[in-house]
Amino acid sequence: MISVRGITLGADRFVTMAGPCSVETEAQVMATAHHVRRCGARILRGGAFKPRSSPHSFQGLGLAGLRLLAAARRETGLAIVTEVMSELDVPLVAEYADILQVGSRNMENYSLLEAVARSGRPVLLKRGLVATFADFLQSAQIILANGNPHVILCERGIRTFETALRNTFDAAGIVLLKRVSHLPVIADPSHAAGHREIVPALARIAVAAGADGILVEVHPNPDKAWSDGEQSLDFPAFEAMMASLDPYLALRPFADQKSPHAQWSEVAG
Ligand code: PEP
Ligand code: MN
Repeated sequence: MISVRGITLGADRFVTMAGPCSVETEAQVMATAHHVRRCGARILRGGAFKPRSSPHSFQGLGLAGLRLLAAARRETGLAIVTEVMSELDVPLVAEYADILQVGSRNMENYSLLEAVARSGRPVLLKRGLVATFADFLQSAQIILANGNPHVILCERGIRTFETALRNTFDAAGIVLLKRVSHLPVIADPSHAAGHREIVPALARIAVAAGADGILVEVHPNPDKAWSDGEQSLDFPAFEAMMASLDPYLALRPFADQKSPHAQWSEVAG
């Protein structure tokens, strides 16, 4: 279990992390923070350092974005999760964030894994685009071995032959990770789906698969978002999605998830 600002991940209570893909403006962050809190989210997400596939895309506000996230935390009490892309930025991001996110593209950036481990902050580690479970768990082990036991695993979809959606959501991966590791496992239905219409169903699947929480992109005006607008939920859609999780959450914990953990070594090598 991992505790941050009175929120425990990996315990009975399902935890929702929500917010924009990128921090854009004060009004955008504040409105989103208030809305997601009202709907039951406990952690605000938002990227200030953005890994973008194109150099012509918005790269994030950097320090100004971190400051806006901290202001939203002061106003709403939500904890903050935000990505750190370079080991050089770890001390700065750790000053502002409650949880450091290591993105998919950096899952195998070993210098970054060591730096986030040493920061002492909990780490949200995203599964790499083409990472096997063994790859994923070994990256988690690098953080643990560098003295930081507070690692949250995040399934966010993987690349397969299927291209109809942005990625292939690996629901079985959630089941397996919960069985073979002791770490909290969350799902990111937004980056898995790539389309906002698909996101709520994947969030419900994540609950049914036994995830400890979700990480969801929400924006006041998705069509105008500076990044990942296609997959971002607007405020009414997020509210409806959260309400739709309740019947699934009421069924937890599922009886077949009470079995003892399988051997970590069977998967991680
Ligand atoms: C994000 O969370 O906005 C992000 C870039 O995610 P991923 O690393 O999963 O692509
Ligand atoms: Mn995004």
